[in-house]
Amino acid sequence: MTAPPVPSRAPGRVLSTLNEDGSRRYLRPKPSTGRFFSIRRVVAYGLMVVFFLIPYVRMHGKPLVLLDLPRRQFTIIGTTFLPTDTLLFQLLFVSVIITIFLLTALFGRVWCGWACPQTVYLEFLFRPLERLIEGGPVASLNIDRNKSWSWRRFAKHAVYAVLALFLAHTFLAYFVGVEQLAQWVRRSPVEHPTSFLVMAGTTALIFFDFTWFREQTCIVACPYGRIQSVLLDRQSLIVGYDPGRGEPRAKWVKARTAAAGDCIDCGACVLTCPTGIDIRDGLQMECIHCTQCADACDAIMDRIQKPRGLIRYTSRDTLDGKQRHLLRPRVVLYPAALAISLGLLFYNLETKASADVTILRGLGAPFEREQDHTIVDQVRIKVTNRTGELRTYRIELLGAEGAKFIAPENPLRVESGKTVTTSVFVGLPSTAFQRGRRPISFRVSDGGSFTAIYPYLMLGPSESSEDDRREHGNPEKEPHR
Ligand code: SF4
Ligand code: SF4
Repeated sequence: MTAPPVPSRAPGRVLSTLNEDGSRRYLRPKPSTGRFFSIRRVVAYGLMVVFFLIPYVRMHGKPLVLLDLPRRQFTIIGTTFLPTDTLLFQLLFVSVIITIFLLTALFGRVWCGWACPQTVYLEFLFRPLERLIEGGPVASLNIDRNKSWSWRRFAKHAVYAVLALFLAHTFLAYFVGVEQLAQWVRRSPVEHPTSFLVMAGTTALIFFDFTWFREQTCIVACPYGRIQSVLLDRQSLIVGYDPGRGEPRAKWVKARTAAAGDCIDCGACVLTCPTGIDIRDGLQMECIHCTQCADACDAIMDRIQKPRGLIRYTSRDTLDGKQRHLLRPRVVLYPAALAISLGLLFYNLETKASADVTILRGLGAPFEREQDHTIVDQVRIKVTNRTGELRTYRIELLGAEGAKFIAPENPLRVESGKTVTTSVFVGLPSTAFQRGRRPISFRVSDGGSFTAIYPYLMLGPSESSEDDRREHGNPEKEPHR
């Protein structure tokens, strides 16, 4: 019995980035200049400059953005979020998510087409360099990927490698800071193998993405692209083709009749699309709303002396001839939710003290009894300096007159953004304890804006209190010596 023949061609339509035999269809979109392209180019180069400069900018003595993963400290616009700031993190995260929902409901995939690093760097850095080195899109379509490499292709990959290295270093600066990065760059990788491997891995990923993976990131890897169908509604802004005006499409001159629509089926919108789709098939998941097809079509409309905008920013309801309603439930609910989460975030940020202090019991036994019946508790005091400068914190004992108070590090020096834990020792006669407990307080102050009092419950003996009381009297009446 012979095996059934394996079909070599897909029976139906395949993805825009696949050939019918299932192999990858490499796209070399034709660039389209036009009104949207001009604005996008300014936005893209502006974003690149911002990305390169942010690691060097400081605010209130701190980096503008520093995502310190090992220490779990995240500095954003001069504000440092510490591992203890769970609530602030949650509010920030919720605010970002709601903002994405709101922007998508209003403006569709404006992020994807205009500001996403994948689009910005691919369309305005890597592809232009490719065209410069290897030739225009028509020339590069003739490149047989299986043939031996030409010097142009080597040159392109060499330039890409340098760019990937530079982008990886800039990216790494967001996590370690430019000062640390400068030190690493000057030293041998052997001295910092982990960070070197992270940098090498990031470089390899960027190189792989912009050299080979390209539009696949948007089509198959990006989670934001996957959830578009639930975030967009029929009123959301999209880049769309107007079939009412364009259909029935007919080739220019040859097949045109009086009934023909404005689309001359020139294919310019498909040739320029970075994800290889035909926008005339309707709204598709692969469309990143980059407006390249709109620019391409506008140029064609100019040439055939028809009004621009056959492909334009519109909404699905508008294309169906219905009125576009800007006001709809999600456009009211999202801003309301955003206002609440941002309000809570800023309130918590404003009311947050400039230091975090935690009082902890000492390790080991809860207390120690000295020969003179003094009960000594070890207390650990953890201080986090949230300001942008070095601070010294004075620790005082309150509510325990006559007590022994030993604080080896007092005042306590804490660098900006750092946490220091110190141990203090409080000694009281055993008679000062009621049922094994004695409330006291600590005052911690930095001599400036920060002063706070923290209650603490000392532990002592409960069973021997009466014996000690008979032997030593009541410390509340006789001060402890
Ligand atoms: S560019 Fe415009 S005219 Fe040409 S095929 Fe696309 S929609 Fe039709
Ligand atoms: S269909 Fe148009 S807007 Fe969508 S990705 Fe392609 S070129 Fe960009």
